[in-house]
Amino acid sequence: MERIAVIGAGTMGSGIAQLAAAHGYEVRLIDVNRTVLDNAQATIGRNYDRAVEKGRMAAGDRDAALSRITTAESIDAGSVGEAELAIEAVIEDLHLKQRIFKSLEQYAPPSATLATNTSSLPVGRIAEAVSDPSRLIGMHFFNPAPLMPLVEIIAAEKSDPARVAAASELARQWDKVAVIARDTPGFIVNRVARGFYLEALRLLGEGVAGVDEIDQVMKSHGGFRMGPFELMDLVGLDVNLAVSTSVWEQMDKKTRFAPHEIQQKLVTEGRLGRKTGRGFYDYSRDHPIPALSVDRRSFALNPKLSDTLQVFAGRAGATSASGTEQLVFARILGAILNEAGFALDEQVASAEDIDTAMIKGTNYPKGPLAWGGEIGQRTVRGTLRALNETVSDGRYAPADRFADI
Ligand code: NAD
Repeated sequence: MERIAVIGAGTMGSGIAQLAAAHGYEVRLIDVNRTVLDNAQATIGRNYDRAVEKGRMAAGDRDAALSRITTAESIDAGSVGEAELAIEAVIEDLHLKQRIFKSLEQYAPPSATLATNTSSLPVGRIAEAVSDPSRLIGMHFFNPAPLMPLVEIIAAEKSDPARVAAASELARQWDKVAVIARDTPGFIVNRVARGFYLEALRLLGEGVAGVDEIDQVMKSHGGFRMGPFELMDLVGLDVNLAVSTSVWEQMDKKTRFAPHEIQQKLVTEGRLGRKTGRGFYDYSRDHPIPALSVDRRSFALNPKLSDTLQVFAGRAGATSASGTEQLVFARILGAILNEAGFALDEQVASAEDIDTAMIKGTNYPKGPLAWGGEIGQRTVRGTLRALNETVSDGRYAPADRFADI
C-alpha cells in the first residue's frame, strides 16, 4: 500500500494524513469544507516544521512529505480511484459514515481496504451500507494521531482477516503499536477505561473525597500519570460523556457503565474542561484549582471490608494509603481490573493486547490483567466481592476470570 485516502480533515483526519505522509505514503485528504482542508495543510506544515527544528525530521523530508499530501472536496474517481486504503474520519454519525462508504465502494478500486476511525459506532453497522462488508474494518487512532502510539484494529464479524492483518502491519510500519479487537462497544480502551472515570465520579457524588484528592490517590498510590478528573478535563467532559453514554447504551444500560449526573450537569452548564477554562478544575489562574465542592459525608467501613481493602492496596503497591485512600484506590482500580477481565471473558482481544492497549492508549502504568495477576486473582476477587456487598446494583460482581478461582 502506498496510496491512501483520508476522508475528513478535522482533528483526526489531519493527524492521520500527517502520519501517513511522513512515512512515505501519498495521501489524498478529502473534506467537504475547503477552509478545513487549508487549515489541515497549514497545521501539518507547522507540525513538520517543529519536527525539523527539533532535529527529528530533515528539511528535505518535510518538503517531500508535504508535497505527498493533496486535497479534494469530494469522493470521486479522481480523488480515490487509485487508493489502496481509505480511512474515514468524519464526524461521529452513522448515516453520514454509511454514505461515505457507499461512495468509497463506488469509486475506490475493489481491492482497496475501507477503514473507519469511529470511536463508538459498531463497525458492523457502518458496514451494512456496503455490498462487500469483508472490505470494511476499523482503524481506531487516538488523539493526537501522530503522537499517540496505539491503533486499535477492529475486526467486525464480516471483516476479512487478511485485511485486518494487513492494517496491523501497516500501523506498525507507521511506528504504531497495533492491537486487534473484536467489534464490541468501546473496543478495548474506551471500555476498560470507563471505571477510571465513572467510579471517580461516584466517589465524588457520594462525598467520599474531592476531585483533587481522588486524582492525587490515583497518581501517588496508583502511578497513573493523570487523575481521572484531570484527564476528563483534558479530553473534554462532553467528549468523555458521549463515549460513556454510547458504551452504556450499547451495553444494554448495565449499571456499571451508567453516566453520572455530575458530569451531565457540568456539560449542560458548558463546563467542558480545559477547552472552556473550567471543568472539574478552574484553569483561570496559574495553577488549576478544584472548582467543585464536595458534599462530604462521613462513612464507616466494617472491619472486614477495611482489612480487605488494606490487603488489596498493599498488594497493588499503595502501601502508605489511608483508609479513605484505600477505598478510593480499590474502587477505581478494582473497576478497571474487573472490566479488563470481562473484556477477556468476552474475547474482545487477547490478554496481551488488552494490557498493551491500556498502557499505550491511555498511559496506564501497568496492563490491568498483568496488574491483577501481581495483586493476586484471589485478592482481586475477594475485594470485588466485598465491594459488591456495599452496593445495591451489583456493579462489582467479578468477571468469570476472577470468579472462577
Ligand atoms: P472533527 O469534527 O474534528 O472532523 C470531522 C471532519 O469531517 C470535519 O472537518 C468535517 O468538515 C468533515 N466532514 C463532515 N462531513 C463530511 C463529508 N460528507 N465528507 C468529508 N468530510 C466531511 O472530528 P474528529 O475529532 O477528527 O473525529 C473524527 C472521527 O474520529 C469520529 O468518528 C470520532 O469519533 C473519531 N475519533 C475522534 C477522536 C478524538 O479524540 N477527536 C479520537 C479517536 C477517534
